[in-house]
Amino acid sequence: FLSGKRALVTGSTSGIGLAMARALAAEGAKVVLNGFGDAAEIDGLCEELGAVHVGADLTTAAGCEELMQGAGPVDILINNAGMQHVAPVEEFPVGKWDAIIALNLTAAFHTVRLAVPHMKESGWGRIINTASAHSKTASPFKSAYNAAKHGLDGFTKTIALELAQTGVTANCISPGYVWTPLIEGQIPDTMKARGLTRDQVINDVLLAKQPTKKFVQPDEVGALATFLCRPEMGNVTGANWSIDGGWTAE
Ligand code: NAD
Repeated sequence: FLSGKRALVTGSTSGIGLAMARALAAEGAKVVLNGFGDAAEIDGLCEELGAVHVGADLTTAAGCEELMQGAGPVDILINNAGMQHVAPVEEFPVGKWDAIIALNLTAAFHTVRLAVPHMKESGWGRIINTASAHSKTASPFKSAYNAAKHGLDGFTKTIALELAQTGVTANCISPGYVWTPLIEGQIPDTMKARGLTRDQVINDVLLAKQPTKKFVQPDEVGALATFLCRPEMGNVTGANWSIDGGWTAE
């Protein structure tokens, strides 16, 4: 049901973004990939999905502009690129704070402002922002990430209202813990910040949050993103969709 639609997924060379790109391509969308990685692997993904790749760094306005120019007019925009850093607030590196706010929040402002004119003109569009359970609730030692994701929720509601009569919807998807390189990468710092072993971090910190006691799978998040792109979802806008094993129900 997405043939003829062009979909840009930021941060789609890995993890959740890649699963979203695969799910959209399976429904016939022409996909634009973005993100870093090994050149041969990215070529392989482009071939697998019939996709193109624009590798811009989204921590700057210029990088976001380069991406949108390379992607061309898009009908579906998924702001998914993100990074994490775990440290007590008084030790939080200032550069990390700036980079996390730039990538996890400000990049979405830039891509949206550049994507919206085409969507409005064509009378149809889907904007999906990958937020997080941390857009609704907090955990310690993730000050920049939690601030950025709460901000992304507010930004999404605002544009949903602005675009309400244009055929363009804007929603957040908020995963709990999904087993991806982003999660694996924060385990050592969490061990250090909390004085725990690897198994304790997995079971007593991460899965302790999720009543299902299971990590969310990237393809489950891909399925939710594709669902929001269905034609019947035109009245679903300004919402923040949890996919977190019950975490934020507690
Ligand atoms: P990941 O590390 O597997 O993938 C991140 C992607 O972003 C990669 O493609 C990477 O190349 C790209 N990227 C990183 N820095 C970039 C930059 N400066 N410019 C452009 N692209 C860049 O991470 P993931 O777990 O798949 O996370 C994807 C999104 O989901 C993030 O926004 C993250 O905050 C969110 N999220 C993840 C989880 C989880 O448990 N994994 C939970 C909730 C929300």
